[in-house]
Amino acid sequence: MRLSRVTVPTLKEKPAEAEIPSHELLLRAGMMRSVAAGIYALLPLGTLALEKIEDIVREEMNAAGAMEVVLPGLHPSDPWIQSGRWQAYGPEMMRLVDRQGREFCFAPTAEEVITLMVSRTAPSYRDLPLNLYQIQTKFRDEIRPRFGLLRAREFRMKDAYSFHTSEEELDDTYRSMYEAYSAVARRCSLDVRVIDAATGLIGGDVSQEFMVISEVGEDEIIYCTECEYGASAEMEVHRPGVGFGSPESGKLEEVKTPGMVSVEDVAVYLDTDNAHVLKCVLYVVGGEALAVFVPGYREVSEAKLECVLGTGDFHPLREDERELYPAVTAGFTGPVGLEGVRILFDQEVKGSRGLVCGANRVDHHLKGVEEGRDFKADSVADIAYTVEGDLCARCGGVLRKARGIEIGHIFKLGLKYSEPLGASFTDQDGNGKPMVMGTYGIGTSRILATVVELHHDDAGIKWPKAVAPLPLELLVLSPESAEQAKVAADLEQGLKASGMEILVDDRDVSPGIKFNDADLIGLPAQVIIGNKLAEGKIDLKLRYSGERIETFPEGANQAIERAIDVAT
Ligand SMILES: [Zn+2]
Repeated sequence: MRLSRVTVPTLKEKPAEAEIPSHELLLRAGMMRSVAAGIYALLPLGTLALEKIEDIVREEMNAAGAMEVVLPGLHPSDPWIQSGRWQAYGPEMMRLVDRQGREFCFAPTAEEVITLMVSRTAPSYRDLPLNLYQIQTKFRDEIRPRFGLLRAREFRMKDAYSFHTSEEELDDTYRSMYEAYSAVARRCSLDVRVIDAATGLIGGDVSQEFMVISEVGEDEIIYCTECEYGASAEMEVHRPGVGFGSPESGKLEEVKTPGMVSVEDVAVYLDTDNAHVLKCVLYVVGGEALAVFVPGYREVSEAKLECVLGTGDFHPLREDERELYPAVTAGFTGPVGLEGVRILFDQEVKGSRGLVCGANRVDHHLKGVEEGRDFKADSVADIAYTVEGDLCARCGGVLRKARGIEIGHIFKLGLKYSEPLGASFTDQDGNGKPMVMGTYGIGTSRILATVVELHHDDAGIKWPKAVAPLPLELLVLSPESAEQAKVAADLEQGLKASGMEILVDDRDVSPGIKFNDADLIGLPAQVIIGNKLAEGKIDLKLRYSGERIETFPEGANQAIERAIDVAT
């Protein structure tokens, strides 16, 4: 592939639209161009890299026993209405109306369409399990597309759907998809953390996300430094800490705290700290007030609260609702003597002593409060976010917070789609039963951006060889020199014969531009043919390590192949 003949429009300056390195470098290295907000065209080198990634995904899916299909990108509204997601997706779904006035969407995912397709074949237990996948362009009308391919409105994704006779059968496929996704990440040189996640709009009972730790990640994750445990910040579980309250019992007394509403104000005013203040957060759940008590240094996780309450139908008590619930006194609610209100305590409140809390009387707090003596924490759960220093509930290791890029998400759906869509199979006794389903997505264009985000330096991209568009760039510093041109042509031909397609920079530009562009494009190895050729020498440079090796045109093929073999 000759750089003089192929579209690789590199840019010297950082494009204004690019906020993060991968976005900037994919544009600057001439891998892609923006067409509209969140919509990109991949140019030849970007396309080659995406193909490498999709080939890896395809190989791992096939090895796991899944079969490839091609589903339409345009879906009729009916099945989406039947599953309830035509509404639930809201404005994120790209919709259109055809000339007959029928509604369609540009599919963001394909559970409905594939479930109906599989159910129409009226499978029997003998046909299951079945695992079908496609690698397709997907659409999502992001309210704020940003970060290039990381949050685009049109993107490439591999989506797989599995169908089973039982939960146990689903568990097997789910595990094999977990392994396949781990293998994809490994082969793309991405270190992933698998975290327990909320199931969101896809639904189902269990889901896990494959996260690559990166400061540009949009999700906050918690992971254990000792074991494999990881979770979204909202869903994480930690051991109750031991730092809340005092080790000793204290005397219960009421103190005046005029106008002191926030935990910080109360702590300063009473010369203590937020590790001794019991924080109250008030909610309205199904028309009833709920007082949630957490240690002063923690925040309530509403995702955890939703799990504990078994409903998402709640909201923080609003100012204009206070008079409806006179039992809770603005800013001074405490658990001692609190009646007529549902109460929920964070796990850490159990057994705590020497606390400061609201006295259920305006401008008053209580000091020396003790759980078990002054109030009973009957209803206790893990309902707070983790804080620095929390320990893993599984192994006791220290938990860390980080930001992560989600590259994959796997779900156990159960009967979430098969029931409403009437997708059933015939069991051994001839009875119809709904199929048990799983769904598995991995973003291939997002992996492309993530690889660049994780593998670059100031000069440009440093492609890991498994996903590099091409393995090698040949820089011919003076293409007008017949000698250099001949050595380049011989090398190119020799490598081609051994199955290696390479990029040759034969442009009529200065060596400086060639060096800079080669580092920016970032193929794993570079061969430089320049003035040293007079002494019969050429240079081989490894992009990842920066290592330079002097070699000879004769036998360079072997040296190049060896160098690329050991490249990252
Ligand atoms: Zn752990």
